[in-house]
Amino acid sequence: MDDIAASAQPLNAGSGDGLVRRISLLGATGSIGRNTLDLIERHPEAYEVVAVTARTNVEELAATALRTRAEVAVIVDETRYDELKQRLAGSSVEALCGVDGLVEAAGRPADLVVAAIIGFAGLKPTLAAVDQGATIALANKECLVAAGSLFTDRAETAGARLLPVDSEHNAVFQAIADNDEASIAEILLTASGGPFRTFTYDDMKSVTPAQALKHPNWSMGAKITIDSATLMNKGLEVIEAAHLFPVGADKLGAIVHPQSIVHGLVRYIDGSVLAQLGPHDMRGPLSYCLNWPRRAPTPCERLDLATLGSLTFEPVDVERFPAFGLALAAMAAGPGMPIVLNAANEIAVEAFLEGRSGFTEIARLVERTMNRAEAGGMVETPADIADVFAMDEWARSQARALVNEF
Ligand code: NDP
Repeated sequence: MDDIAASAQPLNAGSGDGLVRRISLLGATGSIGRNTLDLIERHPEAYEVVAVTARTNVEELAATALRTRAEVAVIVDETRYDELKQRLAGSSVEALCGVDGLVEAAGRPADLVVAAIIGFAGLKPTLAAVDQGATIALANKECLVAAGSLFTDRAETAGARLLPVDSEHNAVFQAIADNDEASIAEILLTASGGPFRTFTYDDMKSVTPAQALKHPNWSMGAKITIDSATLMNKGLEVIEAAHLFPVGADKLGAIVHPQSIVHGLVRYIDGSVLAQLGPHDMRGPLSYCLNWPRRAPTPCERLDLATLGSLTFEPVDVERFPAFGLALAAMAAGPGMPIVLNAANEIAVEAFLEGRSGFTEIARLVERTMNRAEAGGMVETPADIADVFAMDEWARSQARALVNEF
């Protein structure tokens, strides 16, 4: 597919080929960051760690930097900078702080940058990594949701290759392999359905953050876990897929698959469907990105289909899960609306996690922010990245005001 496979340099190193790959981890203390570290620390001979970053978790950041002998460690929260320097004292690890430090570290030469910061905050540093032409293992879906073709164009200009980490997109990437775009009839992403798959809409009105944080299959950071429970995550993923696999929005969809064993499917014009299956362990897709275009053994559990017995599928119910429909509507409205959707969702999820609003209010808040954007004529196509930041900021301020009205 054009946006992924064309005009980029092949990786020049990888475990198993005897070469050493320089790797940076943006969001090293998160769920994706830790899973990546688990893989690369099994092969210290194959990796040199350039940068590791965190927002507030200075203790884990410093320990990771020392253990991996990173060149630089960045703590975004500047109030923890002194502590970071103290923890790294006497070592060769350089300490930086703040968003400027993050962007500086992300731009340091590396073969592979794992973009695993949560939310819109990941856009700026990931762009810095893109600009140096690195291969990007892209976990942060918000980069593509918010900046869309501005992001993919910038990657193409810099010769940066994007490898999708999200398990569904990684599955599609594997299922497409060398097939050409014209032969694809449909791309389907699977969704577990989250912890409330069988709940009525009314039941969901009173669920607590603790209930919503109990994902049936995956262990992930808090924000994406809530997005999985509302199915906003699947909507964001469809938008992400539209940029990674530009086959046209009418060929993209999602299907609920509670076992999370099939991650993505590609139906071809001859009726053949290629699916990728695997255990629900992010080390699978991460390993594929780390070793691409090769494969390497992983510590993931092996699938035992006979024990699993059955794999089931059902349609997404947009009545009970309106966030999914809102994401599709935002995508259809043009490149400005997904910025509004994403920003409002981040504010709504934060409010829910902090106990300031209810679960079903997440989608309502997003919808009301989108309505305001439309009514106010705020959904223009962003001309550049500065426009993306301005629209994000506007949508956040609207959503914050709306939370207080609920
Ligand atoms: P986590 O919340 O577990 O980790 C987020 C990481 O980003 C942490 O290192 C955190 O630092 C850092 N961080 C948080 N806020 C900021 C900020 N404002 N500026 C800089 N750094 C920040 O997230 P996940 O690992 O779950 O998700 C990361 C990305 O990957 C998301 O975009 C998600 O959608 C995507 N993804 C995740 C999957 C998963 O299995 N977890 C699956 C597919 C995609 P600190 O620890 O100090 O807060």
